[in-house]
Amino acid sequence: MAGSGKNDVRSYRNFINGQWVGGTADETFPVYDPSTEEVIARVAVASSASVDRAVNAARTAFETGPWPQTTPQDRGRLLFKLADKIRQNAALLAELEARNTGKPIVEAEYDIADTATCFEYYGGLANKIMGQVLPVPANALSFTMKEPVGVAGQIIPWNYPLMMAAWKLAPALAAGCTCVLKPAEQTPITAMEMAGWFEEIGLPPGVVNIINGMGETTGAALVAHPGVDKIAFTGSAAVGKIIVKSAADTLKRVTLELGGKSPNIFFADADWEASVDGALFGVFINQGEVCSAGSRILVEKKIYSKFVEAMVEKAKRIKLGAPLERDTKMGPLVSKEQYDRVSSYLEIGKKEARVAIGGGRAKQFGKGYYVEPTIFCDVNNNARIAREEIFGPVATVIPFDGEADAIRIANDTPYGLAAAVWTRDIYKAFRVVKAVRAGIVWVNHMQPTYVEAPWGGYKQSGFGRELGPWGLEEYLETKQVFVNLDETPIGWY
Ligand code: NAP
Ligand code: MG
Repeated sequence: MAGSGKNDVRSYRNFINGQWVGGTADETFPVYDPSTEEVIARVAVASSASVDRAVNAARTAFETGPWPQTTPQDRGRLLFKLADKIRQNAALLAELEARNTGKPIVEAEYDIADTATCFEYYGGLANKIMGQVLPVPANALSFTMKEPVGVAGQIIPWNYPLMMAAWKLAPALAAGCTCVLKPAEQTPITAMEMAGWFEEIGLPPGVVNIINGMGETTGAALVAHPGVDKIAFTGSAAVGKIIVKSAADTLKRVTLELGGKSPNIFFADADWEASVDGALFGVFINQGEVCSAGSRILVEKKIYSKFVEAMVEKAKRIKLGAPLERDTKMGPLVSKEQYDRVSSYLEIGKKEARVAIGGGRAKQFGKGYYVEPTIFCDVNNNARIAREEIFGPVATVIPFDGEADAIRIANDTPYGLAAAVWTRDIYKAFRVVKAVRAGIVWVNHMQPTYVEAPWGGYKQSGFGRELGPWGLEEYLETKQVFVNLDETPIGWY
């Protein structure tokens, strides 16, 4: 199906019940290359009737047909096959991902490898889903069974398009669920390419449906649909709140991963070179379009000025460029909308703090949504640029005075996704680890994420966990079975 040549405008329909749905007559929307601002694909919008069709297909596939009869081992094998397809097509997928998101090709290659690893991990877990026997009195037997939660509606963002699809689909399929996935309107391409392999690997029709369109319409219809048992969402806190309200009407299970304003804490005794590197990497990787971006850089007062200076010197050397060039370290932001949003925060920041470097458009590019890596210093933690998620290459550097002050500032945020602490003092490091309210705390690093380890937020960064066995658990119900072993009547009446 999909697109034709490299430079042609690709076209995609929706993938529903094993078929490509929505022809030329359907409304379509454009998808862009943010470095050239050119249209690179057109995608059919899934109307509410198409959403209904997709959910019904997933419902039918969950209840009848081959999927409920597929053994856990075979579900695992399907995931391994999908991972193989992804690895075989990694170069193409990475190129498409880089062109569509604007991220550097080298980062896109890591993303695609991680995507395959995620399918492999859950392929391995599919036949390790087990219940427990419970210690009830001797005249009874009680045990638990783990069962799939049902039809999962999955809504994902544009920053790691295919990887986010894997974080959602892989545990759901391992659990035996069926899925309706909605990619972000900005970045549907790689998920649709992947859908092209479902038939070949033997995934039965209706088990995974991928629909496209705007969040406010297509996404909202999916969330409201009574045939959906669970919604898994990654995106903004604002949309997360809308989703929880809508899902309440049918009491769907909901898991949310909503980003944050994560503190990256540097004590004076930390390794200097590693720290300066880690501060920049924590906030500028993927153009800062990362839910766990270390966008509040907390630096101990006695090293503050020198640290900002060193960050600025190193930030000057960050190579901005076209996403497909291998030495590019930062590409354009994903869309005009995101560029405008980040630009408006740059203006807010200029009124709230001092610009140490950057602060505007990267002017060497005639087109494309390029923003300079920007460091605001002398930032007060009450400033909007320190409280609100910007989701771009914008760092706020905040001074602190001692460990208690660092912990107080770190926790003074509505979010709680991630944090990092840099020090050579292990006592101090672990005290901070315990005191900070966040779903992940790195020590002397920031951002590495492994599929084996849990991912998710405290506070307004959401609820539920992805990855590892925790991510699988979110797609399972627990059934308790009680067996009476005593043949005498109850004798109550
Ligand atoms: P967003 O609106 O939260 O979008 C995330 C996903 O939700 C997309 O698939 C979107 O669809 C969908 N969506 C939007 N409104 C919906 C609704 N009412 N019902 C159901 N689904 C809905 O995020 P964004 O507008 O792309 O970015 C805005 C801000 O969100 C960013 O600046 C950043 O702060 C935050 N964000 C966070 C993450 C994260 O990883 N935590 C990721 C991306 C963005 P469409 O794209 O088709 O509209
Ligand atoms: Mg949107």
